[in-house]
Amino acid sequence: ELYKTRFRSAVTSVQNDTRLLSRNEAPRRILVAGGAGFLGSHLCEILLRAGHKVICVDNFSTGLRRNVRHLTRFDTFSIVSHDIIEPIDLLVDEIYNLACPASPPHYQADPIHTMKTSVFGSLNLLELAVRHNARIFQASTSEIYGDPHIHPQVESYWGNVNSFGPRSCYDEGKRCAETLFFDFHKKYGLEIKIARIFNTYGPHMRPDDGRVVSNFIVQALKGEDITIYGDGSQTRSFCFVDDLIDGFVRLMGAAPSFDSPVNLGNPGEFTIGELAEQVIEMTGSSSKIVHYPLPVDDPRQRRPDISLARRALDWQPKVPLSVGLKETILYFDRLLAQTNQDLVE
Ligand code: NAD
Ligand code: UDP
Repeated sequence: ELYKTRFRSAVTSVQNDTRLLSRNEAPRRILVAGGAGFLGSHLCEILLRAGHKVICVDNFSTGLRRNVRHLTRFDTFSIVSHDIIEPIDLLVDEIYNLACPASPPHYQADPIHTMKTSVFGSLNLLELAVRHNARIFQASTSEIYGDPHIHPQVESYWGNVNSFGPRSCYDEGKRCAETLFFDFHKKYGLEIKIARIFNTYGPHMRPDDGRVVSNFIVQALKGEDITIYGDGSQTRSFCFVDDLIDGFVRLMGAAPSFDSPVNLGNPGEFTIGELAEQVIEMTGSSSKIVHYPLPVDDPRQRRPDISLARRALDWQPKVPLSVGLKETILYFDRLLAQTNQDLVE
């Protein structure tokens, strides 16, 4: 019900929101690369509701048309099917680069394409930004820190990353993208914003996404075994999607001179074993926990230090894990009632 109410109101209050939110700011032409993905679809919705013109550029490799179908009611929304490893030219004022598979099984399925997406994709969007003097945002990641020696992770930490393991195509691709962003900033005076995102979850994740929160919820709802990799003592910090997207918009709106990478995530830290127990309890599932081997290079612990985001963006997450999980469970419960074909369209 919570989920239905939330999305019904998103669709029916379009006109009101547009008028209300655009009072303070001029509408902008905003490109969201990866806009049909989990995070991108929420970002497109927030930007449309604020009265902006949004162009979603996506190759639909992990993104779903279902995630953005409700947004086609906005006449300020358009979808361009395109792979950002190829150049693109569109008249834009702002660019959010979210294009990149984020789940380990998806980004490892074609590691060379993942690397090309981060490197060639960033280059193409940075060149587009230079051409139109657009502000540009990069969805970077906590994986920049690898398996960290510093805990919690601060932005000044350089990280501990393997350059040729199974996660390297993602981690090193994102590190290279940050380098490119800074070099374009220095050479062309481009306004850059870099968010280092920590594990985020919520509605619009694919049921076959492969990341831990969606895996556990789908397994629990289907009564299947809950698959813990390793002994479950590794930790992660889970941020609800609404909090994260609020952070994105604040970061993009920060002063032009603000160019530091910023951690965005929820500092609440849980072991994977604790997450499994909580999902089982909240779904009332009869699923049993099973243990699989820990993947190679799986980070032992991860928690963001968000002092910089608090200070510079006046941002901190508001949604506790129990509340965010409830909304995500409702989403998947409703989704799993649909046919198998609908699930991945
Ligand atoms: P997602 O896989 O749901 O979304 C990625 C989107 O990018 C998809 O719509 C996909 O089709 C599209 N895409 C991938 N390669 C592309 C290409 N070459 N050209 C055009 N489109 C392409 O993942 P997400 O969780 O929404 O993540 C979005 C961004 O945030 C990613 O860049 C990811 O690295 C970053 N991030 C996410 C998290 C998280 O916890 N969700 C954490 C850290 C970083
Ligand atoms: N994980 C797990 N079972 C799953 C999926 C993931 O135990 O079904 C573990 C994974 O090994 C990692 C943690 O959960 O230790 C988070 O994994 P995820 O893929 O969500 O994100 P990342 O490793 O990129 O933080």
